[in-house]
Amino acid sequence: MKARISEIFKSIQGEGLHQGQSQVFVRFFGCSFECKYCDTKLDAYHEYTAEEILAQINTYPESRCLSITGGEPLEQVDFLIDFFKSLKKLGKTIHLETNGILYRNLAKVIDLIEVIAMDFKLSSSTGMKDYWYPHREFLKVAIAKDVFVKAVITNATLTDDIRIAAAVIKEVKRDTVLILQPENPFEDELKRKLEYFKKICQEVAIDVRILPQLHKRLGVK
Ligand code: SF4
Repeated sequence: MKARISEIFKSIQGEGLHQGQSQVFVRFFGCSFECKYCDTKLDAYHEYTAEEILAQINTYPESRCLSITGGEPLEQVDFLIDFFKSLKKLGKTIHLETNGILYRNLAKVIDLIEVIAMDFKLSSSTGMKDYWYPHREFLKVAIAKDVFVKAVITNATLTDDIRIAAAVIKEVKRDTVLILQPENPFEDELKRKLEYFKKICQEVAIDVRILPQLHKRLGVK
């Protein structure tokens, strides 16, 4: 079996609770969604067997943590099952970055993953429909491991979406961290909005953080 892979490289984790950690990134090609703010819609990919990916990963023997990212890696879940088993034999830690929608596929690999960085796709940010049902089901599976939730905040993001995000976390696992990630951290209007959204989450005792993308600020991949 082969996977469609956009790129494999070493860098630092730029998003979420593990910002700054050195990781090897395996970027799976393709995603069925169309978020307005998407910055990973790549055109090209290569097909690799698990052994071929492992050979590239092994050129970075000092890196114990792998970021499995995309696109949406869980769209290629049949490949991930055996691939993750091979990574476990090498003693690697798996950090899965996902849109947080394909909960049935997550259930197939949850035992093999250490960290899950899942999105809440806020319809007012993405320009798509809302995905609250699959997000809720996804979080229910993900809480078996170390999970946090990330929501991209744009000038179009609505307060109602933030209230629902906080309510879903409160319902499934109250101490799950919610990260508000600004699309553009330098806009004053967006900064005010982020502070307001943070206050709304704190009022219902959600552990909320505002974290811009570190790799973009540092100018690294
Ligand atoms: S789910 Fe992720 S990869 Fe897919 S379009 Fe949205 S931001 Fe891009």
